[in-house]
Amino acid sequence: MRILLASSEVVPFSKTGGLADVAAALPKALAQLGHDVSVVVPNYPQVQKQLLGSGPPVTTTGQVISVPVGAHDIQAQVFRSHLPDSRVSVYLIDQPNYFDRATLYGDRHGDFGDNCARFVFFSRAVLELAKSFDRPVDIVHSNDWQTALIPVLLKTDYRDVPEFERTASIFTIHNMAFQGQFWHWDMLLTGLDWKYFNWRQLEFFGNLNLLKAGIVFSDLITTVSPTYAREIQTPEFGYGLHGVLSGRRDDLVGILNGCDTAIWNPRTDPHLPVHYDDTTFPEGKAAAKAALQQRLNLPLRPDLPILGMISRMTSQKGFDLIAESIPQLLRFDAQYVFLGNGDPGYEDLMRRFANDAPEQLSVTIGYDEPLSHLIEAASDIFLMPSQFEPCGLNQMYSLIYGTPPIVRAVGGLADSVVDASPDNLRDGIANGFSFFDYRGDVLVDQVRRALAMRKDSPVWQQLVQTGMQRDWSWRHSANEYRNVYERALWKRMEAPALAHV
Ligand code: ADP
Repeated sequence: MRILLASSEVVPFSKTGGLADVAAALPKALAQLGHDVSVVVPNYPQVQKQLLGSGPPVTTTGQVISVPVGAHDIQAQVFRSHLPDSRVSVYLIDQPNYFDRATLYGDRHGDFGDNCARFVFFSRAVLELAKSFDRPVDIVHSNDWQTALIPVLLKTDYRDVPEFERTASIFTIHNMAFQGQFWHWDMLLTGLDWKYFNWRQLEFFGNLNLLKAGIVFSDLITTVSPTYAREIQTPEFGYGLHGVLSGRRDDLVGILNGCDTAIWNPRTDPHLPVHYDDTTFPEGKAAAKAALQQRLNLPLRPDLPILGMISRMTSQKGFDLIAESIPQLLRFDAQYVFLGNGDPGYEDLMRRFANDAPEQLSVTIGYDEPLSHLIEAASDIFLMPSQFEPCGLNQMYSLIYGTPPIVRAVGGLADSVVDASPDNLRDGIANGFSFFDYRGDVLVDQVRRALAMRKDSPVWQQLVQTGMQRDWSWRHSANEYRNVYERALWKRMEAPALAHV
């Protein structure tokens, strides 16, 4: 199969969240299954300079693409690179006015005012690029609102383009909270006929809603965990689009993300002082703990458990619960390590907690990949009490690193963490702790429970090993995506064009 994955970010070229990890790891895993996969992303030269260092070289292809955005024709140069340790090509769409900025989607004043134009441009450029390939692509896989216009274009402006006669569109939702909503006049930027601006298609309470457009027009929709696929069909998690999603429930598939085990592996991780596996974890984690305590100026106490958290500091990730619980959490004989950035309010609050209890609590504000690896290895318990979590990666990283997580049982957390109940322990499937009631006292109870269980070393060892021994790689998920692609191709052959729209 020839697959083109369109994303607004991909590691190591750009990253704000889990989407960038998926956009790199899934193509690599699909390529290993024998598929011909390419990725297309915007070229953010400033961001690349910060992130890339000595990464794969980016070269020009000499190709220039011209696409209409509203009344203007905008040109893009096409650059090319590849994903590290793979043969997956990465095409970078270069348009400095839109993409040569220090950040991807906005700055401290909020979202960039021209985001609709930027990603209309990018979505059209992706199809112009695909059209120019020597062989047609079978699958165009777009992700989140930034590339949600692609399935719409394939069924409208590009429906009679011979190169796309058999091309099927897949649309993956990574987070319903970000929908790409713009005022109605931005319909003019899309170049689409106003007839699509209706409540069944692109319109949402008077606005243009790109996420909705992707949901309505794609051949099949996926999201990043089976539980999230069910949750987003309910008012609590659907952000107003639950009805649209349940209308397409037969075409909506939840596939849990995998992890890039070349990067997240305690047997080989260059950021750890001592490598370890599921039998040598006590020594490996002890060495990591000493290194972390030293680095963060925490008392060097091998006996104390460390509870770690790495996350965007937002209420989605449960920082309101954390803030509410910290006074009680500090009563436990434990150290706490937080790494993250996000809402200035939470950043300040966390800093203040750290100032008040420097012996017990360390807060690092910022984005620090090496430190995140060390925290995963050094912690005894990981915290992830999210309000909602489409998939989540950090709970899986902690399972791989022998750090049982405490999670709220939502989305991908519910699909990856099995609570240490007596039944689950007896069946040998428990790997962490989960709760549902979104309350500070419930989180504190879970921490108490985990700390108590940690004292029972055979049970703890079993918990750790169960997490470490499961295959968290992309292999399984890539097979599921392949099945979805095949189903989409069949669907496209049976019912071409506007079957469901
Ligand atoms: P989301 O995409 O909602 O932010 P995920 O758990 O799916 O959450 O993915 C977050 C990714 O970003 C993980 O790879 C995580 O390790 C990483 N991450 C988040 N914050 C930081 C940080 N401050 N420093 C280093 N890595 C971080």
